[in-house]
Amino acid sequence: MQLSKKQKGILYSSCFIILALILTFWSGKNFYDFAHYETEFAIREDVVTRIEKFSKYSPRLKGTVGDSDIYVIEGAEPGPSVLIIGGTHPNEPAGQLSSTLLLENLTVERGTVFIITEANRSAYTHSHPQEASIQYFGIETPYGVRTFKFGSRATNTNQQWPNPDVYVHRTSGQKLSSVDTRNLNRSYPGSENGTYTERVAYAITECIRQNNITITIDLHEASPEYQTINTIVSHNRKEALKIAAQTTLMMELNDVDIRYEESPQNLHGLTHRELGDYTDTLAFLLETSNASQGKIRGAFTEELVLNGSDKFYDKALEKGIGKILYAPPVSLDERVARHVYTIYEIIQAYNKYYGTEQLGELKVNGFPGYQDVLTNGIGHYLKEIKK
Ligand SMILES: [Zn+2]
Repeated sequence: MQLSKKQKGILYSSCFIILALILTFWSGKNFYDFAHYETEFAIREDVVTRIEKFSKYSPRLKGTVGDSDIYVIEGAEPGPSVLIIGGTHPNEPAGQLSSTLLLENLTVERGTVFIITEANRSAYTHSHPQEASIQYFGIETPYGVRTFKFGSRATNTNQQWPNPDVYVHRTSGQKLSSVDTRNLNRSYPGSENGTYTERVAYAITECIRQNNITITIDLHEASPEYQTINTIVSHNRKEALKIAAQTTLMMELNDVDIRYEESPQNLHGLTHRELGDYTDTLAFLLETSNASQGKIRGAFTEELVLNGSDKFYDKALEKGIGKILYAPPVSLDERVARHVYTIYEIIQAYNKYYGTEQLGELKVNGFPGYQDVLTNGIGHYLKEIKK
């Protein structure tokens, strides 16, 4: 049967509409599934004392996606405390993986450990499709593969929209780029009735203030071509700088390249600046070298996230460190090993200089060694999720 021109037109446009509907449905389901996928964490009921919610400190988060968990591990004896923040930027996986590893391994003899694994949960509900970024990655464990999400740097627009033309940081009045209005690490100290991201920041600030948390460590990553990698950024309080210097010394003596720098006085909204200014905590931020955040990477694959290997970074490395890259990109195992080891040394440094003061020492066990994490891989330390 010969189709007329008109019939052909109807047939082609019908096929096109059906294809568009299939694609719309498929991508819609994909977005929906990703937004609703919940990463699981193994909670040792005999170790984790309690789980608090952000809404305890920032009530307007109650019932929203941003009402993250705060895991609290208390020692038998009271003492100093540390807050470990993972998941500020969900496109920096070593932060979440390190906080997860510590949640599933640490025990506390003296003092208290607070752990957040998903600081900005809203930012875990979307990714960067225009960067062709992966959505999930798997970590092999003795119990099977654990799935984690590779999210976005910013709060989902479902929670906060539109962006202003210029983002004005609330307490300092500093003008920042528009998109930073949804960046948790430009929103501290936050505000109870502010934007969604400010309410999340407020929860963390209030948690620190109300619990009088001694040390706060915010875990990040950056691209190998960003100057502040393999770095401890420390609030400028004398005690914090002393701890950062001692930590750097111990890590360098153990052949882990690291340096520390002081939080810039005039850059606002960040943990290492505002938490140190608005609370009594000793605030630090840690950065590793993550190729999956870089601008010169090639294909965005799970392999890139896990192993940090990329042919364009290999080319850049041939030119030598200090030309294009400030440090080589490394595997997720190595980035987590670095974060975990830095946290360990920060606690040792605190104990060395301030462990004889009123609060005494913070005694925490269960840190795997730097070399152990490299040898065994992160998965070795992740516990089985009990259903
Ligand atoms: Zn970050």
